[in-house]
Amino acid sequence: MILIEEIFKDLKKIGWLNEIKKLGSLKDRRIKVDEIIRKANLLKGEITELTLDEQLRLDYLIQQEGVDLDLCPDYYIFFSNKNNKFHHLCHRDGQRTRCRGSKNICSSNIKIGLIPIAKYDCSEEGARYAWSLDGKSSPFVESGSFKRRTKLGKGTRDEDIAAYTISVSKGCILSKNNAQCEFCVTGNSVLFERLLTAQEIALQNIFLVLDDKEANSLNKSREFAYMGQGEPGLNYPAVKKAIIGTDLIMKKLGIKTFRHIFATSGIPDAIYQLGRDIKNGDYGESEVLLHLSLHAGDKRSSIMPINKQYPLEEVVEASYNYYDNTRQQISINFMLLKNVALKDGTKFNNVSVSALGSLLSLLDPKVHKIVLCEFNCGPKVCRSEEISKEDVNPLEDLLKSKKFLYKKFIAFGKDNKLACGLLGGLAEYNLDRKTILESLIKANNLIAEHIK
Ligand code: SF4
Repeated sequence: MILIEEIFKDLKKIGWLNEIKKLGSLKDRRIKVDEIIRKANLLKGEITELTLDEQLRLDYLIQQEGVDLDLCPDYYIFFSNKNNKFHHLCHRDGQRTRCRGSKNICSSNIKIGLIPIAKYDCSEEGARYAWSLDGKSSPFVESGSFKRRTKLGKGTRDEDIAAYTISVSKGCILSKNNAQCEFCVTGNSVLFERLLTAQEIALQNIFLVLDDKEANSLNKSREFAYMGQGEPGLNYPAVKKAIIGTDLIMKKLGIKTFRHIFATSGIPDAIYQLGRDIKNGDYGESEVLLHLSLHAGDKRSSIMPINKQYPLEEVVEASYNYYDNTRQQISINFMLLKNVALKDGTKFNNVSVSALGSLLSLLDPKVHKIVLCEFNCGPKVCRSEEISKEDVNPLEDLLKSKKFLYKKFIAFGKDNKLACGLLGGLAEYNLDRKTILESLIKANNLIAEHIK
């Protein structure tokens, strides 16, 4: 160990640290350190003959002198003469760490690991973006950009609102416990990697806004819906920070935010927290609406295993509390799944008056409004039988008789994997770095300035 301290002292003595500092890239700095040590005969043999801990200690000492060697600034390594061992500590909590100074292991240090790598223009509807996370290849994180927020026709308010679908993780955290929704391409085909940070969620928002030349030229306002890959209810602090930061940046850009949509399959803690935060004014003047993807009354666990952990009744109770706090109606998504074959070999059907009725019996038309959603079948997940008018009419009659506000939602991107349940993380690099660089740098700078 004395050897490392000696090498370091010699490096300082001969004045090489200033030379290393001037080098622009990390790779060059590392090469230079090795070269100096070899040339000056500070070490008998190659630097690679040092143990990993010895190399880390040397890096640590050099970095302390202001030469960035990409170690986490909170990482501390020292040698104890008491037990003749190296010890690795984190300054943030004073505890031992196994991170070995790597910034990518400790999620609190990860700011932005997302890089846009592909964009697919999808007919008249918009575009799908793919993002590499931490430099990894397929499957990718995805976001969707839509020219209009719904398929309502010309002359409606929606024509002037562009909408973006944003991911909150790579894959879905529910899949870690095999609790992903049966019908979801993301949950069933993208391996969960990690939750995204607030900065990464906001980066999707801002980059998509800057890259949306048409919406910018038409001065459209924007809606951000957290309903891409992942369950926002299990990444609430990051989503909250991203929303607040996004709004600050949108103000600075002079572009109007129409609203944010917090879409969850039903995580009660997050629903309570969101309601409290809106009431407390944490979101300022921004509108943050709650969407609940419930899809069933009874038998919900067979398509959404999360229901075993957070039963429907608890989710609905949380939604009443949200309403008490915010006075905002909650959208209840009810996806029409007709005789869908499930993994366990059974069939699921909610296209019936009794299935919808069992859900409505828990709801209140003052508090909840219903969205009958078309299911966009992905190739890798369960398939629904075709839904006819005759199937939907009795459901509409029921909703009318119970005085619920409702609408029918037609899925986007049926053939082109734009979104609406089709986010399977597949893409090939097709973005020319030069064309996106300006928007990417601008988005990253704005985020660094506004989201700490
Ligand atoms: S629908 Fe949402 S919550 Fe369900 S598996 Fe897919 S990403 Fe996860």
